[in-house]
Amino acid sequence: MSEGESTKKASPRRKATERVEPVVEAVNAPAETVTAPRRKTRTAGERTTKRRPVALPVLIVDETVLLPHMSIPFPIEDDEAAMVIERAMRMPMRQVLVLTERMVKQAADDAPNSAEFRELFADVSSEEHLLGIPNDSPFEDDGWTPDDPIADGTEYELCTTGVIAEVGQRHNRPGGHPYVVLQGVARGVVIDYVQQDPYVVARINRHDDPIVPSPESEAAMTAVLEQIENYISMLPNVPEEVLTMVRSVEEPGWLADLIAFSPEFTTDQRQELLEILDPIARLRALSVMIQKRLIVLNLRQQIASEAQAGMDRQQREYFLREQMRAIQKELGEGSAEETLANEMRQKIEAAGMPDDVREKALVQVERLEQQHPFSPEIGVIRSYLEWLIELPWAIETEDRLDLAEAAEILRTDHHGLEKVKERIIEYIAVRKLAGDKLRAPIICFVGPPGVGKTSLGRSIARAIGRNYVRMSLGGVRDEAEIRGHRRTYVGAMPGRVIKSLRDAKSMNPVMVLDEIDKVGSDAFRGDPASALLEVLDPEQNSSFSDHYLEVPFDLSKVIFITTANQLEPIPAALRDRMEIIEVPGYTEVEKLAIARDFLLPKAVESHGLLPDQMLVTDDALRRIIREFTEESGVRNLEREIGSVCRKIARKFASDDPPTQITIDEEGVLLYLGVPRYEFGLAEEEDEIGVATGAAVTSVGGDLLSIEVIIMEGKGDLILTGQLGEVMQESARAAISYARSHAYEFGLEAGYFDRRNIHVHIPAGAIPKDGPSAGITIATALISALTARKVRKDVAMTGEVTLRGRVLPIGGLREKTLAAHRGGIRTFILPKRNAKDVSELPEVVRNDLELIQVATLGEVLEHALLPREELSLHVA
Ligand code: ADP
Repeated sequence: MSEGESTKKASPRRKATERVEPVVEAVNAPAETVTAPRRKTRTAGERTTKRRPVALPVLIVDETVLLPHMSIPFPIEDDEAAMVIERAMRMPMRQVLVLTERMVKQAADDAPNSAEFRELFADVSSEEHLLGIPNDSPFEDDGWTPDDPIADGTEYELCTTGVIAEVGQRHNRPGGHPYVVLQGVARGVVIDYVQQDPYVVARINRHDDPIVPSPESEAAMTAVLEQIENYISMLPNVPEEVLTMVRSVEEPGWLADLIAFSPEFTTDQRQELLEILDPIARLRALSVMIQKRLIVLNLRQQIASEAQAGMDRQQREYFLREQMRAIQKELGEGSAEETLANEMRQKIEAAGMPDDVREKALVQVERLEQQHPFSPEIGVIRSYLEWLIELPWAIETEDRLDLAEAAEILRTDHHGLEKVKERIIEYIAVRKLAGDKLRAPIICFVGPPGVGKTSLGRSIARAIGRNYVRMSLGGVRDEAEIRGHRRTYVGAMPGRVIKSLRDAKSMNPVMVLDEIDKVGSDAFRGDPASALLEVLDPEQNSSFSDHYLEVPFDLSKVIFITTANQLEPIPAALRDRMEIIEVPGYTEVEKLAIARDFLLPKAVESHGLLPDQMLVTDDALRRIIREFTEESGVRNLEREIGSVCRKIARKFASDDPPTQITIDEEGVLLYLGVPRYEFGLAEEEDEIGVATGAAVTSVGGDLLSIEVIIMEGKGDLILTGQLGEVMQESARAAISYARSHAYEFGLEAGYFDRRNIHVHIPAGAIPKDGPSAGITIATALISALTARKVRKDVAMTGEVTLRGRVLPIGGLREKTLAAHRGGIRTFILPKRNAKDVSELPEVVRNDLELIQVATLGEVLEHALLPREELSLHVA
């Protein structure tokens, strides 16, 4: 325990925010009452020289910055300091007492610790001022109470041991505070304070260290010196002179002070040492402090060296590798990198690249050799070279231009599609005659999904004996996907064209660009369509340059075939370069043939079944087509057939396999479960107010019935079933037509003013629009008005004008197919669609009575039955 703490009651205290408060009581009290109690156990006390007490002005500092024998520049920053210095300068000895002011430690021996203390008195507000302030605090006598003791209860006190210092010359600094040099002389211990205002004056005892060396002090000095040498050796950048200076000190107290003066010590440690008057005891205390620092330093070094060890290993490996390289070179063996480079060189020579490309590749090999073994560039260069090497620069397959054989291959791959097949044979014929001279147009198959567009491409490749590769363009929005990323990109890769060529393994494959209508464009990522144009344009594609490869590749020998679901979304520039071949949807009859002759045998084989193990009747297939699929193509049909095959395969793989399984119409439900689709059928009865129309849907065509009822009302028209605007207009036009022919239909004057007309098209949840329901709405309406039944086996399509003319429509093929499937016998169509009739599937032309009409009158003639007596219609 230092003397400072044991005597703190005698020192002036103040709050953190306030300056020195005068301690009236202490100043006025008799000296004996406030004298610091002497430590009874002090052994060195007798050896310190004592003089008569002196009164000195006190220079208050926040940190213990000065020690005896040391000197410091002291800036004069406030009035109090200025007065103290001035006072000292006026005295013969020019001395002051430099005294440190420090925070009062709250954990006083007689008080509970502050947290407990606060808790204890939390609700006793009148006693709040007790917080941290002993009852005999001088502030209490002054009537001072802390305003917010919890927020800032910090108190300060003056230490009782300070340094007597001689004040040197005053110096002025431009732009800074003036300063004086303080030279530490000896320790001074406060007896009491004789003045508080305007600066503190203390009566003190001066303590000089005794100068007689004793064996004890020598031993202590040697030990500390050893420690300090050890310590300094661990610190970086300590000049040699420091050690020389330390070694030159001959007195233990001085040595302790000199060492304590170094910046390695904290103000608390320095004050603690200052308060120890006995030099040997001081050296010992110092020794303990140094020892603690040594332990910390040692630990720090240990941690640092462990971290270093990891680094060293890497470096070691590097040097070993370098050595290995040197040795390998001496022995004439190549290093791993050299072997790799040589391998690359051989491959480049073998790849048959054009000269300029080969040279570029060889330059890269050289770069590869120059790389540091850990360089990340190695991977980049290597994969670039691999791309170059793997491309089929010089691999060209020979065409087989045998028309008969090609025709046979096309026939065995696809059912029907006669026109398409013919066109392909023509294409091959021209190639045979003209060779590469003719820039063959790029074929674009357009049609709904699953009609065999892609597989036709494969058939073409097979027919002429070329390699086949497919590249999907669906969802491509980024030009870089076609043309690659520049190599400066992290993880750059060539575009899809180059990737596909690598996969094709020849420079003249048949390349199918699937879904060219689904290529998007995005202002920020370039235009993939224009990149595609460059790929497809025979003028440019002989030197197609991928951003990644940076060398041209000749695409002119590739046969490009593109596919699209729709023509419209294809950019015009692209469309112009292609020859469009439409592949329409299949009729039910065609689907059945495809299923029976192509899909089923393929599925049976791929599921590991034998052809006679599994038989599927036509009725079963038809049921799958009708009730389990709804599509123009056969993709889902293929999937459903696959699904049946899987279940059958499971039976044959069981412990007790059957010999043969036949699947009939009922059996389908067994394997595929509940039917998924319904399709439009002809009405079951001839009815009034219901007419059958035909519409094109996303998956082909379908039948729809249009219902009209007439009821009492005020001439309103009600339209339900999510009719689009065009359809609503058709309904209004039909009513206007009917009104204008009211007399003809036998309706009395004012008939429409007293009735509401309701037109409804099931299924109500599906939005419908288009003009082609015009004649159907009119037929249903007039049927309702005239109470003539509509023939159930008639379906119709056509736009109607106000004057009752029937205008042409689109999608005749889909609509007639739907009618055929739905059991319709007579199909009414606009006369102006006559040109399309020859294009209709044969089954349609054979099975349906196709009636071409020019006026609504003709429609009614064929669709309505004569009026029956006693009809039920609302009159
Ligand atoms: P798309 O490219 O038009 O979407 P796909 O070429 O992928 O259609 O054809 C889907 C499946 O249907 C393929 O297995 C294909 O062999 C088969 N397929 C389509 N049309 C026929 C056909 N006319 N004859 C035989 N199989 C066909």
